[in-house]
Amino acid sequence: MDMTLSKGAIDFIDDAYIFRLLEQKEDAGKVREVLAKSLEKKALNLEETAALLAVKSPELLEEIYQAARKLKREVYGNRIVLFAPLYIGNHCVNDCLYCGFRRSLTSTVRRTLSDEELVQEVKSLEAEGHKRLILVYGESPAYSPEFIAHTVEVVYGTKNGHGEIRRVNINAAPLDIEGFKTVKQAGIGTYQIFQETYHKETYAKYHPANTLKGNFMWRLDGMDRAFQAGCDDMGIGALFGLYDWRFEVMGLVSHALHLQGRYGVGPHTISFPRIQPANGLDLALPYQTTDAQFKQLVAVLRLAVPYTGLIMTARESPAIRDEVMEFGVSQIDAGTRLEIGAYHEKENITDAQKLEKEQFQIGDNRTLDEAIGWLLSRDFIPSFCTSCYRVGRTGEHFMEYAIPGFIGRFCTPNAIMTLAEYLKDYAGERTRKEGEALIARELAKMPEDEMKRSLVERLRNLAEDDKRDQLF
Ligand code: SAM
Ligand code: SF4
Repeated sequence: MDMTLSKGAIDFIDDAYIFRLLEQKEDAGKVREVLAKSLEKKALNLEETAALLAVKSPELLEEIYQAARKLKREVYGNRIVLFAPLYIGNHCVNDCLYCGFRRSLTSTVRRTLSDEELVQEVKSLEAEGHKRLILVYGESPAYSPEFIAHTVEVVYGTKNGHGEIRRVNINAAPLDIEGFKTVKQAGIGTYQIFQETYHKETYAKYHPANTLKGNFMWRLDGMDRAFQAGCDDMGIGALFGLYDWRFEVMGLVSHALHLQGRYGVGPHTISFPRIQPANGLDLALPYQTTDAQFKQLVAVLRLAVPYTGLIMTARESPAIRDEVMEFGVSQIDAGTRLEIGAYHEKENITDAQKLEKEQFQIGDNRTLDEAIGWLLSRDFIPSFCTSCYRVGRTGEHFMEYAIPGFIGRFCTPNAIMTLAEYLKDYAGERTRKEGEALIARELAKMPEDEMKRSLVERLRNLAEDDKRDQLF
């Protein structure tokens, strides 16, 4: 790997400035001004974000939640995009103290899927109805950019009846510029790299200096190298529980503002995983993020970084997911299994997680069909849409947010088409009925125009002529 940083690399995390902003006290007048700005569809700066993070009183917090809810429903609509993580291999040269894959854990069972096993995993996921995957890797010389690109190609090439994977995202270590070029050529969607913590001292505490990941700046600069390599579909994230949650939100917003300012494109997604129990994990975590803090941080991110999708993973329990969803989450994973090989080796695998074979414990182990049933009961449209990416409309979150009518013209019809495919091919009886009822309700809400006629016609093509993948 060529350890050269990006052109013009800088550490854009200004600790002193962030700490100063976080000292501000709750100020109702300021908070209301900031909420009004956000509802006018304007991105927030760090100072405005800090004003929302300073809020503690229940009444003012409720105003933040209402604004986040409003933004979610009125601006983004009620779609939730579904995906599944697929662990490719857990060999790792790093020693992140919170992770069940860290190299010093000899009790961890190490495994990398062979091509044949990968094909079986993908077929099983397709048989459940999945269309979007994120491939996950430890950091190892064995998981080179060429290897990652190869696994992406295997996934795209694997079909199962009507099943196919239409978008492959990646969560792996930061690469050098050549590496990012290699994985881009394989047709990846989003490349996710979580900074884990934006606080340098804490970073050093959890990532030993004698490991690759111990280099804070190499990781922080990862997105810049990706952009300079021509990838502009990037996901950032922080692992909540390592340091003060408010600081991490400020770090994420700083990162988003840096990318937006330098490349004219912000991150495609933000993730906010909370630390979960893991094999060999015996950490006293003074900063473990409470449910109340979690709720606030999601709402604040929604209001602060409007052009960005928010991902809430199955680390969270069904109850938390249910509560937090409406504050602006746009993607969730469902039917999640972390054990390597678990999607196709179902017969040998019980529902109970075996932590020595997995990265961490998840909170939501419902099946995809159960998760879809839950979304439908909450009047969300479960979506497997991959349309913007495949027809070359980049910057979809920006367009959703900024172009009037974009959601009505593209997102909702595509969500409905992909849901209808799922209902026809994979849903259980009950989910199918609930899904059809939701589609009928959505159609009833639409104006009687060309768009609706076209959608109804495509739904008929699917039902009667078995036509799939009819993108808007
Ligand atoms: N190995 C690559 C890396 O570290 O960049 C890929 C990511 S790792 C397989 C996926 C993410 O899982 C990490 O970035 C970290 O945020 C998260 N993670 C690690 N241990 C965790 C734990 N105990 N609970 C929750 N999330 C964890
Ligand atoms: Fe390896 Fe990633 Fe786990 Fe760190 S978080 S030990 S780099 S798999």
